[in-house]
Amino acid sequence: MGEGTLVLVGTPIGNLGDLSPRAVEALRDADVIACEDTRRTRKLLTHAGVHAPHLVAVHDHNEAAQVRRLLARLDAGERVAMVSDAGMPGIADPGERLVRAATGAGHRVEVVPGPSAAVAALVVSGLPSGRFCFEGFLPRKGSGREERLRAVAAERRTTVLYEAPHRVRRTIADLLEACGPDRPVTIARELTKAFEETWRGTLEAADRYLDGTEPRGEHVLVLGGAGPPEAATQDEVELALRRHLDAGGTKRDAAASVATELGIPRRWAYEIATRLG
Ligand code: SAM
Repeated sequence: MGEGTLVLVGTPIGNLGDLSPRAVEALRDADVIACEDTRRTRKLLTHAGVHAPHLVAVHDHNEAAQVRRLLARLDAGERVAMVSDAGMPGIADPGERLVRAATGAGHRVEVVPGPSAAVAALVVSGLPSGRFCFEGFLPRKGSGREERLRAVAAERRTTVLYEAPHRVRRTIADLLEACGPDRPVTIARELTKAFEETWRGTLEAADRYLDGTEPRGEHVLVLGGAGPPEAATQDEVELALRRHLDAGGTKRDAAASVATELGIPRRWAYEIATRLG
């Protein structure tokens, strides 16, 4: 059994106020901090008042070698903290490999949970969150991308995708082609930052919304699942429709709003609306 401790520490996805007191403590107590970009992590540490920590950069190109070095430090009984540039390590960021190596060698692995853009976007989307799927970044091109788009289109659960700003329009267009126009989607941008914005609608409307724009900043796309999601029952749809109809909306408008709210196809909501007395 190893004697070292690896602590995965969640850091803010934009707003430094989201750095938790436990995260500061974990960073202060670490013998060494594994991070992606040492300059970025140093800024965070300065903000947190953590001084002179030993930083080790771990990124795609050196991960295997750095994991071996960090494992040696764990073997020596040290406390290793791991952060990524933002959010939770291991979520579309390095982390998984070091955790596997540490647990394999019998070291203790702890976590100080913090924000993650995926969960933040999911909960703010209003789409069913009881069961969901995290896709991270889609492959950029080729058959890998096409296959994944097909799988995402068939997925019944809400799907969360990360995307770089200059690729958001292309990905929305591809999702529109794969999933059809009525699929609900939320575009969550710059979460927790000054220009935070959450847009909700269908893929067709999202395509129009983005047309001619140059999206900037960090984006998460949250896509409603295929078909009637398990989270929305017929009773829930009827209840939501009645609320809109009682407020004076037409059946068509009520169906469109309820489809977006509950993440169900507009056709299904409209069918139920026409059957309501
Ligand atoms: N480990 C991070 C986490 O737990 O969220 C994710 C790292 S991944 C390399 C970076 C991607 O996360 C961005 O391209 C974007 O899709 C998403 N992201 C990170 N911060 C965000 C924010 N403040 N608002 C919206 N999306 C964000």
